[in-house]
Amino acid sequence: MSNQNNSVIDLIGNTPCVKIQRIAPDHVSMYVKLESANPGGSVKDRLAMNIIEQAEKDGSLKPGQTVVEATSGNTGIGLAMVCAAKGYPLVIVMAESFSIERRKLMRFLGAKVVLTPKEGKALGMIEKVRELVEQNGWFWAQQFENKANADIHEATTGAEIVRDFRETGLDYWVTGYGTGGTVAGVSRVLKREMPNTKIILSEPTNAGLIASGVKQERNADGTPSVTHPAWSPHLIQGWTPDFIADVLQEAVDKDYADVLVPADDQSSIQWSRRLAKEEGIFTGISGGASFAAAIETATSAPAGSTILAMLPDTGERYLSSMLFDGIDEWMSDEETAIAQSTPSGQFPTA
Ligand code: PMP
Repeated sequence: MSNQNNSVIDLIGNTPCVKIQRIAPDHVSMYVKLESANPGGSVKDRLAMNIIEQAEKDGSLKPGQTVVEATSGNTGIGLAMVCAAKGYPLVIVMAESFSIERRKLMRFLGAKVVLTPKEGKALGMIEKVRELVEQNGWFWAQQFENKANADIHEATTGAEIVRDFRETGLDYWVTGYGTGGTVAGVSRVLKREMPNTKIILSEPTNAGLIASGVKQERNADGTPSVTHPAWSPHLIQGWTPDFIADVLQEAVDKDYADVLVPADDQSSIQWSRRLAKEEGIFTGISGGASFAAAIETATSAPAGSTILAMLPDTGERYLSSMLFDGIDEWMSDEETAIAQSTPSGQFPTA
């Protein structure tokens, strides 16, 4: 079959699921869905494509109009890729606390990246976008409120999971949330087509917004009006901003999650590292977090259960973060010993 494509956009979606061979408990089958296989390297390519294409269809985005969005990174990279491919200028607003790689990637893809002070958190980014939209008449992608977000996960991510697990069955599907697009969209499909699959939703231990049961206060347009009281800072980039997004609210209102599992920063980092070292599967901190929740699920799952965890992006996006702490540039003693064990390639000694 030919693999000639018209546009990079045609490569979005249809990501592979891979079985865990070495680090899964023996009594279960564990799989991960590799969203890093999207051309922009993350799950957010899906919503970037759909937000732009729905806005083209309904006329809210005009040819050549500037697109603007507040994002912690992956949505910005997805939007930068889609806007570059379709010829729209793009401005991304991002808090200074997110990794340097993300800023550089977006600029490399032709976007402008405007930074906001970390003290303002996610709400500070949204406030900045609101001002820019009012002043310039730009098109605001609004990933946290836009219906096109969960809809694309219903049409693609969810449909792919049903296709790939209809025969083997799927007992547990594990995810975290940022906007909540993944959990809302996929849950619609699972509740309809595989109602016996348990939906496991994870959030950071120190940011249990849904676990708290406290309602999010929001403005008439769905944007949050205050930081959620249960939020505190965590290291799982892309997960759980300081509010319950309008898109995520559907999952809360309809009780999509059968179980809520907390994931802590350190075990998320440890499981991301183990996936890389022991399975050859390269994912970011949020992938480590959903895998940590999947391992926790496996512990109490009946023998023979099948579990699927979402891995939202690639570890390469975190080279300057905690994920790579302890990964040195220089040779370790062990590496030096290997280097010195044969004559060639020796460094002159001072
Ligand atoms: N992990 C990472 C690294 C992300 O960038 C995102 C999106 N912000 C998510 C997980 C969560 O996806 P969603 O927005 O669909 O809830």
